[in-house]
Amino acid sequence: MIGIDAMKANVVKPTAPGGAPTACGADGHRERAGSAHPADGGEKKAADRRQLRSRLDRIGHTVVVLSGKGGVGKSTMAVNIAMALKMAGKRVGLLDVDIHGPSIPTMLGLEGKTLEEGQDGVCPVDLDGMRVMSLGFLLQSPDEAVIWRGPRKMGTIKQFLKDVAWGDLDYLIIDSPPGTGDEPLSVCQLIGQLDGAVVVTTPQKVAAVDVRKSITFCRRLQVPVLGVVENMSGFVCPKCGEITAILGSGGGRRMAGDMGVPFLGTIPIDPNIAEACDSGRAFVARYAETSTATLMQRIIEPIAALSGAGVSATMANNRKKNLP
Ligand code: ADP
Repeated sequence: MIGIDAMKANVVKPTAPGGAPTACGADGHRERAGSAHPADGGEKKAADRRQLRSRLDRIGHTVVVLSGKGGVGKSTMAVNIAMALKMAGKRVGLLDVDIHGPSIPTMLGLEGKTLEEGQDGVCPVDLDGMRVMSLGFLLQSPDEAVIWRGPRKMGTIKQFLKDVAWGDLDYLIIDSPPGTGDEPLSVCQLIGQLDGAVVVTTPQKVAAVDVRKSITFCRRLQVPVLGVVENMSGFVCPKCGEITAILGSGGGRRMAGDMGVPFLGTIPIDPNIAEACDSGRAFVARYAETSTATLMQRIIEPIAALSGAGVSATMANNRKKNLP
């Protein structure tokens, strides 16, 4: 098992000539936060709060991805939301707070990456400019089980936000584990004012019922619900084009209507999504020209609109110019 002071113990400390740690990332972004903590408990708490606030002040928008159940495609959506925003030219961080089942490193082909300590904190793993942080980077092996109670999880999430040198970001996308437990609660409490939540479900009633709880959770914590995504909604036969509603269809849309929150759209079961996840490439980048990728880009529009940008148009322009 690891501890988060694991985060300090497990990180590599690359040093510049003269012995000082180097700055994080290709652009060597420097943090204004990060002074040493006074030993006194009260002062340390206040210093921690200031440091957390100064990190968050440099992040334009924070969006959490939630689901009522596991296996509905929440991490898949988080990865693709982050990548679509990056492809639209945004500065993006992706934080995986799924402490017990961190899958973001696998989905982005970042397994085995280790963390480095920079001048101003722990450097997130860099993926062509996207900054990624996950407990998965601290595990000795992917089979390792993390057996922690709530306070320890909250402490870890706090360190992910406070001690990681995120730098200046337009968006921080946060992938939370399923349900309404310690992790999403910690995120909401620590960040204070999230810009919104994207709630992912599958079409069946059983999944949609649980997702209602995620929406109630957002309301209690005053997190705006940007909308509901119905994932795995129908399977389009690659041979004949016939659509089969393997898991039913419409449950997410109905539930969003009942709960009075926006419905963002449907994503079909697409074998290319599973293949992209397993091969460590974000689907929207690997299969950018497909109809499913277009559906994903549409779903991301309300998130892009937070910063007044249209993702689909910008991505189309970038593709014309051969930009990533
Ligand atoms: P969660 O985060 O909700 O537990 P994941 O995002 O890890 O779910 O997805 C579970 C599995 O389902 C992954 O292997 C992923 O590749 C696959 N998957 C997700 N959405 C789709 C889809 N629309 N079509 C095909 N496979 C999908």
